[in-house]
Amino acid sequence: MANVVWHKKLRILLDLTRDDLDHPDYPGLWDLIYATDRFYGRRGVPVSERDLQCGGVCRDMGVDAPMHLRMRGGRREAVHERREDEERHTAPMSDEHKAYQERILRAAEEGGFSGDSEVRTRIGRTWIQTDTLVEGADGRRIGWEVQLSTIDESGLRGVRARAAKAAKNGITPAWHTDRAAYAQRNDTHWTRSDNLPAHVIARNGDLRIVSGFRVLDFWHCDTHALYPCPHGIRRCGKAHATPKPRDVLFDDMVRQTAAGTIVPIHFRAGTKVHRYWVTSADRDRLDDLNSNDTRLPPERDTAPATGASRNRPTCQPATHPLTVHAPQDLPYIPALPLQQPAPAIETAPPALVEHPGHSSRAADNTTGLPSDLITLQKAADDAHRKLQQLHDHDERAQQRQVWRQAAQAAQAAVTYYARTKRLNRHEVEARLRQLVRNSGRSDAQTAASSGA
Ligand SMILES: [Zn+2]
Ligand SMILES: [Zn+2]
Repeated sequence: MANVVWHKKLRILLDLTRDDLDHPDYPGLWDLIYATDRFYGRRGVPVSERDLQCGGVCRDMGVDAPMHLRMRGGRREAVHERREDEERHTAPMSDEHKAYQERILRAAEEGGFSGDSEVRTRIGRTWIQTDTLVEGADGRRIGWEVQLSTIDESGLRGVRARAAKAAKNGITPAWHTDRAAYAQRNDTHWTRSDNLPAHVIARNGDLRIVSGFRVLDFWHCDTHALYPCPHGIRRCGKAHATPKPRDVLFDDMVRQTAAGTIVPIHFRAGTKVHRYWVTSADRDRLDDLNSNDTRLPPERDTAPATGASRNRPTCQPATHPLTVHAPQDLPYIPALPLQQPAPAIETAPPALVEHPGHSSRAADNTTGLPSDLITLQKAADDAHRKLQQLHDHDERAQQRQVWRQAAQAAQAAVTYYARTKRLNRHEVEARLRQLVRNSGRSDAQTAASSGA
């Protein structure tokens, strides 16, 4: 038996523990569905060809488990047609699993967060069932799913779909296991602890996560580097990140994911995408690394979440290397990508207007690009390179703003130049980048080879 039934035709879940099946908008729903099911039965329609399926663990695991309805002692019941489906429900939760649920809730509470086990979150006409849900800061919700070696592998059906559904609906999926084979699956962000008995899991002592968390090592690809260049055998002069395994305490993981200081990332290595948990500082730095002028890193609140104003400060850091500003008549758009298809300006960006006489007329001899454009692009590249070399969090936040402004100024200037000259903007930008980066690259290679 199960309490939750999925109606295939109406595409709704029915909660048999509630008088109205949890559908107050449809009075008389039970009478209608029960009468229909009985009618099918009298007509000899097989259960598998009727409208009802298990909406509980069977559905969670992606199994279509046909059900029929009956009344027993005045109680409404839904019955699985197949024994194997029924057995899926009667497998008792192990003591270890319960110990994990309790540990998650206790750790969350000690960190000032609330939570609950076996939570059903309503999503439109259906639900998401979460093993243990922690309510974190800023409306963040962490959905813990514990899959221990005591279950058989059928419990792992549909992990990717379940995790994706949770993530799509605002629940960060956090799957935990004690079996190495599960942790190596790349279908969600798994964490793993050693296989421990329930009384150890329940205790207050150290419980370690031994895989799933990484520390990112940021390094510069020159002759001093410890790692080989991920893009080839030669030194490319760029910044790279290398993930290194690191143990983390389970309780810290529960609290920091709730606080948002440990976050899931996708890490691309060649053609493979890994799923790791990292600190939010490492995630921000990786975003900086993987960004470019037209795809700037997402804006993040650097101030603590509580009571912080979401408005941007009106004054900008005074550390800008050049007198370039984002065009004043362009609204500041924190949402990305930065590259606006057709900015509604016909005036030149201030960076170009400020020197109307000479420099904007001057052009590089080989490319025909105005030297102002080259200067602005160089400034943006320099700001980005400097960002990649900084380690301190606050310095990085400030330099990120510097880069953001420099990149915006360069982009706006490219747009303006392409528009006034009636050139293809994409080609102008590609030409400009090639020009600036080739000169930058030769500098970097010189620096790299002379550093030996
Ligand atoms: Zn079922
Ligand atoms: Zn490299």
